[in-house]
Amino acid sequence: MSMTIKIKNQLFKTNRIFCIGRNYADHARELKSEIPKAPVIFMKPATALVSSGQTVRFPTHGSVLHHEVEVVVLIGKNGRPRTAGQALSFIAGLSLGIDLTLRDVQEKLKKKGLPWEIAKAFDQSALIGNFTSYHPSINLAEISFDCSVDNQVRQSGNTKNMIFPIPVLIVEIAKIWQLQSGDLIYTGTPAGVGPLEPGQRIIISCQRLGSFSWQMFAGPELKTRN
Ligand code: ZN
Repeated sequence: MSMTIKIKNQLFKTNRIFCIGRNYADHARELKSEIPKAPVIFMKPATALVSSGQTVRFPTHGSVLHHEVEVVVLIGKNGRPRTAGQALSFIAGLSLGIDLTLRDVQEKLKKKGLPWEIAKAFDQSALIGNFTSYHPSINLAEISFDCSVDNQVRQSGNTKNMIFPIPVLIVEIAKIWQLQSGDLIYTGTPAGVGPLEPGQRIIISCQRLGSFSWQMFAGPELKTRN
């Protein structure tokens, strides 16, 4: 569902979701992908968002559903930053999220050179935690975070290992799309992605940004979320 994010009495209506692929070398290697020379950018619809504490239904058009924990940036104003310094002034908040990916479907699409939407942009594919307002005292290149499934740590990452740091991603995206308030950027996942099963509980956490969880389930949609 689309949602409204509240940070310090300011409301942001979620807008576009930009996602970055292969932004950590260890993850690119585990998928046997090339280290990119420019950011790999794809999008999900805002209707794919699921906030923390909710249940997440397994998609039925694939079978290998992977978790990808990522630091997520909320853009707070409209415009086109051209430098890393300018990019910082566009950040309203930070959180963690999961880019849910049907890996078996994605592998088939990759082999055929086809777009990734059905593997990555399906309903409930963008799990999102609560946002912390961004303050320049937060070092964007030193955020450590992890992802556990049923209390077993699967992924541990730190933004210092990004191939393209957060301000660079913002500038690169803004070369193509004028940024708008409410845009989100999923900044890429570190190594350790792996399959989820119905009934499992995912917890993602970061000392600075908090801890968020979701429960996976299989079966018919319980109710229409809006
Ligand atoms: Zn991802």
